[in-house]
Amino acid sequence: MRYVVIGSSAAGVNAVRELRKIDKDSRIILISKDKSIYSRCILHHYLGGERDLDGLCFVEKDFENIYQIEWMKGRECTAVKPGEKHVILDGGETVAYDKLLIATGSHTFVPPVKNLKEAKNVVGFRNLEDMEVLKKAAKNCRNIILMGSGLVGLDCASGFLELGVSVTLVEMAGWLLSRQLDERAARTYQRAYEEKGVRQYYGVGMSEVVLDDHQNITEAVLSDGTRLPCDFVVVTAGVRSNVEFLEGSGIETNKFGLVYDETGRTSDPDVYGAGDVSGTSPIWPVAVKEGIVAASNMAGVPRKMTDFFASKSTMNFLGIPSMSLGNVNLEGEIVSGEVEESGGVCRSHNGECPGNVDRANEAQDIWAEENKTPDGARQPVQAYTVRYADGHMAEILDTGDTYKKIVHKDGRITGAILQGDLAYGGILQQLIARRIDIRRVKKPVFDIDYSDFFREKENFEFYYEEN
Ligand SMILES: Cc1cc2nc3c(=O)[nH]c(=O)nc-3n(C[C@H](O)[C@H](O)[C@H](O)COP(=O)(O)OP(=O)(O)OC[C@H]3O[C@@H](n4cnc5c(N)ncnc54)[C@H](O)[C@@H]3O)c2cc1C
Repeated sequence: MRYVVIGSSAAGVNAVRELRKIDKDSRIILISKDKSIYSRCILHHYLGGERDLDGLCFVEKDFENIYQIEWMKGRECTAVKPGEKHVILDGGETVAYDKLLIATGSHTFVPPVKNLKEAKNVVGFRNLEDMEVLKKAAKNCRNIILMGSGLVGLDCASGFLELGVSVTLVEMAGWLLSRQLDERAARTYQRAYEEKGVRQYYGVGMSEVVLDDHQNITEAVLSDGTRLPCDFVVVTAGVRSNVEFLEGSGIETNKFGLVYDETGRTSDPDVYGAGDVSGTSPIWPVAVKEGIVAASNMAGVPRKMTDFFASKSTMNFLGIPSMSLGNVNLEGEIVSGEVEESGGVCRSHNGECPGNVDRANEAQDIWAEENKTPDGARQPVQAYTVRYADGHMAEILDTGDTYKKIVHKDGRITGAILQGDLAYGGILQQLIARRIDIRRVKKPVFDIDYSDFFREKENFEFYYEEN
């Protein structure tokens, strides 16, 4: 058997490890544009000078030897020919395969902002090459704008802060990390970044950049007409899957990227896919797991992706940890909202029902403001519940320093945020992974602990039992 894997990152590397684990003898050929193996998740530490290239590497020193891999590094795959069962590389060389894995990830997509494509001083935040450009920008530029304040945007802002450079964030959504956090949780980070001198514009897009005679950006114009001085733009929002080289191959792609099933198999039975290239769950743990699952199936050991939560993120910006799972921003009619104070219950915001979760959070803030202690301190709000007409419920525990939110329907958790204190994260993931009906636990959801689900056998082995 001859395995070919394209891409040497989270999905590709874990796939080749799995292939070798199962198949001790076959040839494994790894092809990648990347010349080194590094984690994109910590690129900001490279930008900030906290880590060198070795510090970004996530494989064993003699990875190629350990797993007996032929690694064609710095090579680009330009086409796949399933009929001939080979791939074509830059320069025209062909590499034959019996089973092929496509783990080519994605690239930065420069959005259609007027003049941005023509500009010289703009770059993405994905590759080592981008970091070299950004290191120079950090030295020479004073007004750096980041387009987007998702995970990548905040990594980028943190990298610049490590270098003592304060940037400006421009974000279309109403708050940062809008996919992972609700407005309340986002506000914690927004304040922290503000304190570090990061200027932030939310609910606006970049509509135009003004160029000088050398095609360098000198000014950015936002959708609300605001004009900002600008001498460098980093595109930290918007990616496209690396599937261009599949054109004409007959291997199915859709508007997100490569199409494959829960075993990793594409429309061609000998071609598999894994990781960001699908364009569906662009996070490291999913890429790792998909790489392992696809490799297992390629090597003849059946396996399926079984994760219930494709969207799980943990983050730690400016020393504030957060975990986000599933959908945390519900839309739709709210039927009631309650604030519970420790030792008593009071209706939220003078008994009025807030219009949405984030206004509910705002109401909670107002409540805390209105109920300050005589010496002016805000009293911690202990618990908050929002019920939706469609049966969803959001349970919130907010002490100011820590914030916890669980969204559930029919007893099953559909989304959650933990911020400040992630100790509950282990329980939460058990509740989700085991699809536990939390209605059956006769205590407040945040008080659930392992003892509610785990029993001990006589031999001290723990096992799970739903109450
Ligand atoms: C700045 C940043 C921060 C992130 N932070 C987090 C985080 O905190 N947590 C988290 O879970 N996720 C994070 N992610 C996402 C995470 O890095 C990705 O989900 C993960 O890298 C995907 O791995 P992958 O193997 O699918 O693809 P990629 O990492 O994109 O790698 C693709 C590989 O394919 C190669 N390649 C591409 N095209 C070709 C071609 N035509 N021929 C040959 N080789 C090719 C590339 O050289 C590369 O080796 C972050 C991403 C970025 C950019």
